[in-house]
Amino acid sequence: MCGFRRIAGAGSLLYFDYMSARPRFLMCPPDLFDVDYVINPWMEGNVNKSSRELAASQWETLNKSLAKCADVTLIDPRPGLPDMVFTANAGLVVGEKFVLSRFLHQERQGEEPVCEKGVKQQGFEIFELPPDLPFEGAGDALLDRQNGWLWAGYGFRSELDSHPYIAKWLKLEVISLRLIDPRFYHLDTGFCPLEGGWLLYYPQAFDAYSNRVIEQRVSQEKRIAVSEADAAHFACNAVTIGKRIIVNQISAELRGRLEGAGFEVVETPLGEFMKSGGAAKCLTLCLTEPEPAKSKALSTVRSRELKLEGHLLDSGLLDRALELTVQSGGSFQILHFNLGKQRQSTSNADIKISAPSDEVLDKIMGQMIELGAVVGPKQENDAELKTVTQPGVAPDDFLSTTIYPTEVRVGGEWLRVQNQRMDGVVVVEGKPPAARCTLFRYLKTGDKVVVGSKGVRTVRKTESRDVRGTQAGHEFSFMGAGVSSERRVELVVDQISWEMHRIREQNGKIVVVPGPVVIHTGGAEELAWLVRAGYVQALLGGNAIGVHDIEQSMMGTSLGVDLKAGTSVEGGHRHHLRAINAIRGCGSIAKAVEQGVLTSGIFYECVRKGVPFSLAGSIRDDGPLPDTQMDLIKAQEDYARLLKDADLILMLSSMLHSIGVGNMTPAGVKLVCVDINPAVVTKLSDRGSVESVGVVTDVGLFLNLLTQQLKKMEGRNAIA
Ligand code: NAD
Repeated sequence: MCGFRRIAGAGSLLYFDYMSARPRFLMCPPDLFDVDYVINPWMEGNVNKSSRELAASQWETLNKSLAKCADVTLIDPRPGLPDMVFTANAGLVVGEKFVLSRFLHQERQGEEPVCEKGVKQQGFEIFELPPDLPFEGAGDALLDRQNGWLWAGYGFRSELDSHPYIAKWLKLEVISLRLIDPRFYHLDTGFCPLEGGWLLYYPQAFDAYSNRVIEQRVSQEKRIAVSEADAAHFACNAVTIGKRIIVNQISAELRGRLEGAGFEVVETPLGEFMKSGGAAKCLTLCLTEPEPAKSKALSTVRSRELKLEGHLLDSGLLDRALELTVQSGGSFQILHFNLGKQRQSTSNADIKISAPSDEVLDKIMGQMIELGAVVGPKQENDAELKTVTQPGVAPDDFLSTTIYPTEVRVGGEWLRVQNQRMDGVVVVEGKPPAARCTLFRYLKTGDKVVVGSKGVRTVRKTESRDVRGTQAGHEFSFMGAGVSSERRVELVVDQISWEMHRIREQNGKIVVVPGPVVIHTGGAEELAWLVRAGYVQALLGGNAIGVHDIEQSMMGTSLGVDLKAGTSVEGGHRHHLRAINAIRGCGSIAKAVEQGVLTSGIFYECVRKGVPFSLAGSIRDDGPLPDTQMDLIKAQEDYARLLKDADLILMLSSMLHSIGVGNMTPAGVKLVCVDINPAVVTKLSDRGSVESVGVVTDVGLFLNLLTQQLKKMEGRNAIA
């Protein structure tokens, strides 16, 4: 038997009287029900573990419960389609319109023609989505009968791009909600609009944006949020008929809340179907969903097309772009993809990005632009500029800058942003217009700041497999589990020393950012040698590196520990204070060198060699040294000045200063971060740029290897 089978009371839909007639549901007997495959987390471990007898009796009980206040129409099950029992996914009915489902998983796609045939016999006006645009019917679309809008889910099964079609065809306002917990893969597994504008739902099933939308639409008094335990028993997967709620199982507490709100709860165990990821609502499709009285087509889904070019596959760029889109609440469609066939040739892709609102789309576009995506020429716009009205405060939706070279479009021309750095804003000024990166604190009333992501593009260097296969973008773990990673550190040191040597020979600029650990681990002598040998053109640190270097130079200790003997020195804990006091007495580190008070060490070499340094103050500083800049804005300016035109930055075990330096440094500058803590290395070297290298190792050991290698390259054997 095929098609629909009528049972008592079911009239022709075309003449259905919504006001007086009983609602009508479509169900499919579970004669062929089983868990045959795994397409949701509930099915895992349950393949062929359901009992058909028990399923049949549970289904019968649900059917009887429904029959008390509704009519039920049956559709015959088909072999090979065990999930046909979940008729909620056959399509979406509103009034006399039926939107047919397009299943995401191949396993269920066989249900589509069966449903179509049955529905046609019922006299519905049928709507079909384009092929390859998944939409899983009433499982992902629930009408709010009170307010006349349609809640629509996406994220796992239905595609966001189906929502504008549904809005247009059904003449409804469609509110898109993103599901984020794979257990609640259909909207109706974690969300149930109730009579009178009430809502039963599991907030954690949705992303933050969707929760905000829900909260804007449904007042707090009418939102009944369920616990995880209730959600996991499919408390939200309920059939609602007026004030009656038919559900698998709920806690006494939730029952109390629902009854308090005037609802009648009927529990009917459906454990066998839970093994497949469905319960009461999934097993039914309401065929008599009245069309809301006053409704108009509206969907806030917005889309934009962009282009991505480069080594899209082997660099993982395409993967990152698509993952970012999904993680940020959007969805994508690849419109064209041209694969570069040779190792050196690049690929390009045209991608359509969709998001539930302008706000989310703008956020995603910002991230895409950061990855180097550009919008097609037809969609190109000038950048939007807003005027600063309060000194030091940017307009709300300001574009926040990254380390990558950025261009903004003004008067149809693309302008390269000057002084690129991270976490700044872009000001456009002058005639002809110019764009520059600046910080909030320098904004003046009347400045024109770039806002949003339109008319902005990032120039990214193409990452190839060859580059990624070497050291770039990778961490070298010294303490790697059982791997001879010591050799890997040596390898990366070889590469760094080669680079440093080259930069020195070309009169380039190397900036070193050392923390006091350099001294504690016995690396002072090596760093002093690097300064003396011309490998350091600027040094950025804090009070501590100065204090500890000078303590070691003057007293042979670091924090009172004799570095040669490795033992504490009597009264040594005051050594660093004595060192500070001595320098304060001289007026500055340079004067201490001049006066013969400071005769060795890193800072002595800096003064002798004329290498500029900047020491930024902090709350924990002792003294401080007279050279330590306690005005942090001035310290940041000093750092920025000394970092200008750097070719390579060596960050040596100082998280605080290294993070500051990282934010000020544009892409293109080679960055080496050495720290014993892998988390710090990852944070500092993971800038998504090809030029950063992280080395997880002891900084003393690193400096030792580095100087040895450099000396080898110079043909020397001992510290000169
Ligand atoms: P930090 O916490 O910012 O960085 C220290 C880093 O060193 C950490 O990331 C840690 O993982 C790493 N590290 C520890 N042992 C290591 C090893 N053996 N090899 C490699 N890496 C290792 O601390 P900081 O930069 O030392 O100091 C923060 C601020 O406090 C600075 O401004 C500093 O001047 C100030 N400070 C002042 C004094 C003083 O005035 N006496 C003393 C200490 C710190």
